[in-house]
Amino acid sequence: EAALGRINALDGELNCFITVDSAAAMREAKAADERLSNGSPGPLTGIPIAHKDIFCTSGLRTSCGSRMLDGFTPPYDATVVERLRSAGAVLIGKTNMDEFAMGSSNENSFYGPCANPWDLSRVPGGSSGGSAAAVAAGLISAATGTDTGGSIRQPAAFCGITGLKPSYGLVSRLGMIAYASSLDQGGPMARSAEDCAVLLNAMAGHDARDSTSAQRTPENYCDGLNSTVEGLRIGVPKEYFGEGLDGSVAKVIEAALKEYEAMGATLHEISLPRTALSIPAYYVIAPAEASTNLSRYDGVRYGHRCDEPRDLEDLYTRSREEGFGDEVQRRILVGTYALSSGYYDAYYKKAQQVRRLIAGDFSSAFESVDIIAGPTTPGVAFELGSKTSDPTAMYLEDIYTLSVNLAGLPAMSLPAGFSNGLPVGLQLIGRHFEEARLLAAAHQFQ
Ligand code: GLN
Repeated sequence: EAALGRINALDGELNCFITVDSAAAMREAKAADERLSNGSPGPLTGIPIAHKDIFCTSGLRTSCGSRMLDGFTPPYDATVVERLRSAGAVLIGKTNMDEFAMGSSNENSFYGPCANPWDLSRVPGGSSGGSAAAVAAGLISAATGTDTGGSIRQPAAFCGITGLKPSYGLVSRLGMIAYASSLDQGGPMARSAEDCAVLLNAMAGHDARDSTSAQRTPENYCDGLNSTVEGLRIGVPKEYFGEGLDGSVAKVIEAALKEYEAMGATLHEISLPRTALSIPAYYVIAPAEASTNLSRYDGVRYGHRCDEPRDLEDLYTRSREEGFGDEVQRRILVGTYALSSGYYDAYYKKAQQVRRLIAGDFSSAFESVDIIAGPTTPGVAFELGSKTSDPTAMYLEDIYTLSVNLAGLPAMSLPAGFSNGLPVGLQLIGRHFEEARLLAAAHQFQ
């Protein structure tokens, strides 16, 4: 009731939610009360959460921020939804996002932009902007997000919350609407590393229905939270502090690193020399995969269908033209071009080779350090509308986050301080499947 009351009072202005199902939430809350009084609660029993509207929810509209899926009600739950449900979480609704998770500001949503609770004239970041803003504004306790190139970490940074992008394969992608399948990964967004650990315990784990799901022995991510950072070797990539980084953001990050040093960690300058190449590599690979993933929206099976098509060609063309927004169409065009015969070697293959080199740079760095730290974003939350007419300026926002997805590594963003009253995010990057180490390092800072 408290969560629903706060949503009623504040979401008119914030626009964090695409769908709120109060009746279902109250039913789940009653069931949670019963579970609590029976003495058999799960780790999240009664905790109000929301899912990014990219996760399929049985019987509840799942739009992916797109007109294409405005009327789509899935017949099943995503694995993440199913697991959080069985851990006892109460689902309040589905959060706003950039259409098909393409964007860094939440301005590409068919349902309108979402506002940053710290300053309503600014963006909350994207694509999981609704989830970040809803947690930051206290509408819900925690939320899910997805991160293909920074979409959990960047909005977490802009809204002053904690978000974790797990290693590729740790969290099932079943029922998570595909954007770029080799990069997409779901994860928790919450107020603290400890809350993220509780959520990750429920979300992580092998899923036989996702062929890229990792087979690993389950871990309890809460267990190691109190391990000390003494002796922890923190790599500081010099490329993350160069041109383009806002000076006052740099100061906040440097102060955070000093704090780690004071707690007994050691700082080591490292180099990730292909950082700048992550933007062109990502913006070839992600649109290429998106162009194939989005070919399923043809107006025939599900999703938007145009009125009175003249023939099959017209049905495809008009359904897609009406159903997809500008950014989605731009990426389908870029991706289709990059994959077309004659260009494949020049673009897609080249980008995959660069991807391999970027992953190699991380592997060499991790031979001498335990985690890598730096800014999550080059600046703080920007003004709504300030980058919408310049896609390249928007893509540059992702400079510190993209390479992590290209390498499949875990990374998180945690609040490090403020610059002119706006939150600054500290990014921690770990070795494959070393989420526990990241969460502990974040918890010690908090
Ligand atoms: N901003 C990046 C993009 O637009 C990343 C989005 C994401 O992580 N889903 O593709």
